[in-house]
Amino acid sequence: MMSDLEIAQRSNMKPISEVASLIGLSDDDYELYGKYKAKVSLDVLDKFHDRPLGKYIDVTAITPTPLGEGKTVTTIGLAMGLNAIGKKSIVCIRQPSLGPVFGIKGGAAGGGYSQVIPMEDFNLHLTGDTHAVSLAHNLLAAFIDNHLHHGNELNINPFTISWPRVVDVSDRALRKIVLGLGGKENGVPRESGFDISVASEVMAILALTTDLSDIRKRLGRIVIGYNKKKQPVTAEDLKCAGSMAVLMKDAIKPNLLQTLENTPCLVHAGPFANIAHGNSSILADQIALRLTDYVVTESGFGADCGMEKFMDIKCRYSGLKPNCVVMVCSIRALKMHSGKYKVVPGKPLDPGLAQEDIEAITQGSENLIKQIENARYFGIPVVVAINAFTSDTPKEIEAVRKISIENGAFDAVISEVWAKGGEGGKDLAQAVARACDNGGDFQFLYPLDAPIKDKIHAIATKIYGADGVVYESVAEKKIKLFTEMGWDTLPICMAKTHLSLSHDPKLLGRPRDYKLPIRDIRPSIGAGFLYPLCGEMRTMPGLPSKPAGNAVDFDEDGNVVGLF
Ligand code: ADP
Ligand code: MG
Repeated sequence: MMSDLEIAQRSNMKPISEVASLIGLSDDDYELYGKYKAKVSLDVLDKFHDRPLGKYIDVTAITPTPLGEGKTVTTIGLAMGLNAIGKKSIVCIRQPSLGPVFGIKGGAAGGGYSQVIPMEDFNLHLTGDTHAVSLAHNLLAAFIDNHLHHGNELNINPFTISWPRVVDVSDRALRKIVLGLGGKENGVPRESGFDISVASEVMAILALTTDLSDIRKRLGRIVIGYNKKKQPVTAEDLKCAGSMAVLMKDAIKPNLLQTLENTPCLVHAGPFANIAHGNSSILADQIALRLTDYVVTESGFGADCGMEKFMDIKCRYSGLKPNCVVMVCSIRALKMHSGKYKVVPGKPLDPGLAQEDIEAITQGSENLIKQIENARYFGIPVVVAINAFTSDTPKEIEAVRKISIENGAFDAVISEVWAKGGEGGKDLAQAVARACDNGGDFQFLYPLDAPIKDKIHAIATKIYGADGVVYESVAEKKIKLFTEMGWDTLPICMAKTHLSLSHDPKLLGRPRDYKLPIRDIRPSIGAGFLYPLCGEMRTMPGLPSKPAGNAVDFDEDGNVVGLF
């Protein structure tokens, strides 16, 4: 089989204006960025506001192996499959960070015959949204240090400043730095650091905002630290929020691309999935839902992570209600969850994973069963998509189907979109269309007016399967402080490992009999959530000994090679 990049480069790409006209957009509704990319104007929301909303589908997964479960592949393939059975659809996904593109994971444009194109642009700068996020973020950082330099009128306590710089490169050497060295002319010395751009609160805001005036207000509400009276200091106080909003004026518009089969695809925002909510933008979904019958979007990591945040944070701010959850699972991940086989990135796969082993699958399905239960808490029908790998056997697939249906799934079908594109996604599309017609009764996991600890308890016990929660004293103090500030009515965005339902990446399957430890809790007031930390969370990744970027280059004809 050809590499993903070769498949993408040989595809039959249409001018993006043709793709736009397929969904009823006229020249005035978008701006071209070259021949194959466009930014969709937010005026489209007004223009089509009286159209009915399409069906809204969230693609999530069981607790993944470190290699990913194929959610993006399935999201794109399902949209193509819906087209293949005669239903109109749009895909809405995140834009990847350049850190992983040149680091460990590579790009995020799908794979095989289920990809978004042009794949190079998608994985590289696209239309510069991440640069705009970085600049808006760093402008605020510069305003903070400038404020200290010019006498600190706001009386900011420099030790409380929690607004680092950002850059969209994995660079561990920047995690901790000292600023302002070199004497009085060069600013006030203090410790700070860098996060990767997608971990910026500005990126979380971009993904959750609903219009220009909303993004302006959210940017103003960003808390950068506290003054000496322990009161919060905001971007508004520093008179920076207006400039930040202006820097975001084009980034706020979703980017239109296409799949290998010319299905329209809106690519917009890419917030980190651990300290932020890990879902593409509300604006892209809202626009797509007015333009088509089915909108397929993806939420990051497993259902305990991205899907819970999709429901309790993203849908809460958008007011949208999903109609169906697609739970992606691979046979190899179920085998890993049995504890019998390990999946280690960068190492050759355990040959046992490619051998029929119904017993391991049955054991590992504990995780699948729990994640189906998790989606059902929100009242939405679940279709399990078994992401087919060439080594899977018919008996194994049948076993997973049976377990899924016996444990509350609406349906469970094999998905062959990686190998066959839309043609391999027809069964999945039929099942999803049926699930959407079946209707659900959407509900949130917790009410916003519940105390902070009750909300955390609900997520920990219901979704993660913990017996309870234990708080370190820092977390206890913060909860008291945030409640006094009136921030206790915000939703909760748990920062937890994606490799286990629990806080401990070593606990596979369905961990039981444990308490969830909360080390600290931090505010993202602009984005509009509080994020409790369950363990150490890295906001600036490092590069591996052989970064993916080693292989990226031009060939003799000037084509990009080595992206995946
Ligand atoms: P996720 O979105 O869950 O992180 P992706 O869809 O990005 O996962 O897939 C992760 C990687 O696995 C990609 O490189 C993709 O091409 C590959 N992959 C996904 N599904 C299959 C499959 N059925 N067969 C072979 N490779 C696959
Ligand atoms: Mg993905």
